[in-house]
Amino acid sequence: MTTPSLLILPGDGIGPEVMAEVRKVIAWFGDHRGLSFDVSEDLVGGAAYDAHGTPLTDETMAKAQDADAVLLGAVGGPKYDDLDFSLKPERGLLRLRKEMDLYANLRPAQCFDALADFSSLKRDVVAGLDIVIVRELTSGIYFGEPRGIITEGNERVGINTQRYTESEIDRVARSAFELARRRGNKVCSMEKANVMESGVLWREVVQKVHDEDYADVELSHMYADAGAMQLCRWPKQFDVIVTDNLFGDMLSDAAAMLTGSLGMLPSASLGAPMSNGRPKALYEPVHGSAPDIAGQGKANPIACILSFAMALRYSFDQGDEATRVETAVETVLANGLRTGDLMGPDGGTPVNTDQMGDAVIEALTASTA
Ligand code: NAD
Repeated sequence: MTTPSLLILPGDGIGPEVMAEVRKVIAWFGDHRGLSFDVSEDLVGGAAYDAHGTPLTDETMAKAQDADAVLLGAVGGPKYDDLDFSLKPERGLLRLRKEMDLYANLRPAQCFDALADFSSLKRDVVAGLDIVIVRELTSGIYFGEPRGIITEGNERVGINTQRYTESEIDRVARSAFELARRRGNKVCSMEKANVMESGVLWREVVQKVHDEDYADVELSHMYADAGAMQLCRWPKQFDVIVTDNLFGDMLSDAAAMLTGSLGMLPSASLGAPMSNGRPKALYEPVHGSAPDIAGQGKANPIACILSFAMALRYSFDQGDEATRVETAVETVLANGLRTGDLMGPDGGTPVNTDQMGDAVIEALTASTA
């Protein structure tokens, strides 16, 4: 079997700092689990602009298209605020998502027991929570035509169009069902079929994909507004939620806050399967480049480490090893180690980025003893 390839794009601000810790984890798997990756590294965002005058070169784009998975740190920073829109660091990330056609955005909301008191909800509501929201990422109201602000009579009108084709719904539904099969085998689809025709079609297509190819997965449907309520009331009733671009944007941000700090949240964006059967995939922490703490060793590397764990599970079929990483993170947190963003009600032992990464490595090693 050929060694799977992994393209690393550390980016800007704290991106390179948190990625250095992921590199330790990758090296650990090579040394201790016989799990090696053909790792290459390149520039994206402001770092690419500084070197090449563009936030993503064509060469890097081509490498991303060829890689079995791409792992990105973060892009952006105040230094680039005055650049033309087309040259801004974020354009590099948007180009990656667009040209790789990453239509399924996976946002897990996982609450580690040691951090349950960080949530704004009660401990028993969130402790042990482990759900994933699959948000359709490349269509819907953010892209539909017509759009714009027009003048009608003597007033202006803002227009956006919610538009979904059957094939767009079909493919994201498949991503959700495939994901559910690797987890709790349960999908809840959310739309507003009561008031939107696109929601009626969404519900029909999801049901059809289920009945034809995924009848073994438990499927339910919920109106997205009721879904938002249920996410706050009892989020543990869900396993995988699949929803459109707009509702997914809001529901995934709300779900993220169930779990505490931004420094803990990984994500994945998946596209169509490649010739080797693996989906095109980009893994990245939800947080940005955090210019306020960059270069100070204060960044929490866990979101980026958990993004690599997602790559292990969803790109490399190493679900057990992904769980090993997640358990190591759980152990480190249970031992009270805390980067600045995690210093909260329970105090804890302050550590820097490097020490947090080392502690995860120690816990990984202990897990094999
Ligand atoms: P941010 O996520 O960078 O930071 C928000 C706050 O959270 C800051 O106080 C920061 O210090 C803290 N924080 C974030 N990640 C942390 C971590 N791992 N450990 C500890 N603390 C952490 O969001 P922002 O300040 O709105 O944006 C900063 C820059 O990042 C902007 O240029 C923005 O465009 C960019 N950005 C990039 C991405 C991305 O690369 N995907 C996402 C969001 C923002």
